[in-house]
Amino acid sequence: RKDGVWHGGDPSVKVAVRVRPLLSKEILHNYQECVRLVQNANQVIIGKDHVFTFDFVFGKNSTQEEVYAVCIKPLLVSLTEGYNATVFAYGQTGSGKTYTIGGEHIASVAVDERGIIPRAIQELFHHISEHRNINFHVKVSYIEIYKEELRDLLDLETSVKDLHIREDEKGNTVIVGSKEFEVECADEVINLLERGNAARHTGTTQMNKRSSRSHAIFTISIHQKQSAEYQNAAQDSISSKFHFVDLAGSERVAKTGNTGERFKESVKINSGLFALGNVISALGDPKRKSAHIPYRAAKITRILKDSLGGNAKTVMITCISPSSLDFDESLNSLKYANRAK
Ligand code: ADP
Ligand code: MG
Repeated sequence: RKDGVWHGGDPSVKVAVRVRPLLSKEILHNYQECVRLVQNANQVIIGKDHVFTFDFVFGKNSTQEEVYAVCIKPLLVSLTEGYNATVFAYGQTGSGKTYTIGGEHIASVAVDERGIIPRAIQELFHHISEHRNINFHVKVSYIEIYKEELRDLLDLETSVKDLHIREDEKGNTVIVGSKEFEVECADEVINLLERGNAARHTGTTQMNKRSSRSHAIFTISIHQKQSAEYQNAAQDSISSKFHFVDLAGSERVAKTGNTGERFKESVKINSGLFALGNVISALGDPKRKSAHIPYRAAKITRILKDSLGGNAKTVMITCISPSSLDFDESLNSLKYANRAK
């Protein structure tokens, strides 16, 4: 059913498309919009006649609040009920991934403009404050994947060799060696996020390029247990986590001049996006047995294995530039998203 809301028993993966407004520099260059929405049919039309239908579509006037309420709130509820959740932002560089995920410059952004992460954090701590009978432990970690190598953004001292993706006996994915910080309030989470962002952006002059070519995975893990006086012996504690993923830019690197190191880099990055597309597409195929979901193909899919499919809820938000200049990339992104449905 494509009626823009979640239903119980729905497939665990939902696909949203968000088209940003033209930016002032694009208006200045007189670029035209080549994408429009048919809101009540959840359709996106690019160019004259390419029509795509998704679970949710958001146009240039969509607000951060709306995107949060429609796509993310159900995942937060599910997190507090003990299930894992993942949200990805997919799209070319400049399409609005970071704006939508909301992982950067949080303190300086107006409250209405805040993206998904700060809203989810606020709602989580609100939930915690309203459930005094439950002991919550909240932890955060922040990992970057660049050229199929992991980097701990909360502890740059940790070397690549010391980070390992493992699956424990219960099927939970863990990154052995990564720092997890226990947090008590929303401000602490935001501080850690900003600290990781600073780590992500400092270093060589190539860092801007690097950050558009890497995947950033910010994870909030919660552990809940009834307080002693309410506890019944049979009741175990519940653990769940929410991954917020700002993916590498999906743009095809130009064929010319794309040799050597640059070429290897683009192949490895695209292999992560490719693997993710394959996993999500396999999850949407009812004939596919869970044993055949190709999680092992890339680091990103290995890390997210316990949070994609099964009881986990996933939303992929495909971000699109409306500009005529970006027609080819936008069409590619819509095709990728369409395969994921
Ligand atoms: P990406 O992370 O995909 O490279 P950004 O999130 O940095 O892209 O967005 C590129 C520019 O577009 C930024 O200046 C951002 O503020 C603006 N932008 C993106 N999405 C929207 C939106 N929905 N409404 C208004 N401005 C947006
Ligand atoms: Mg970005």
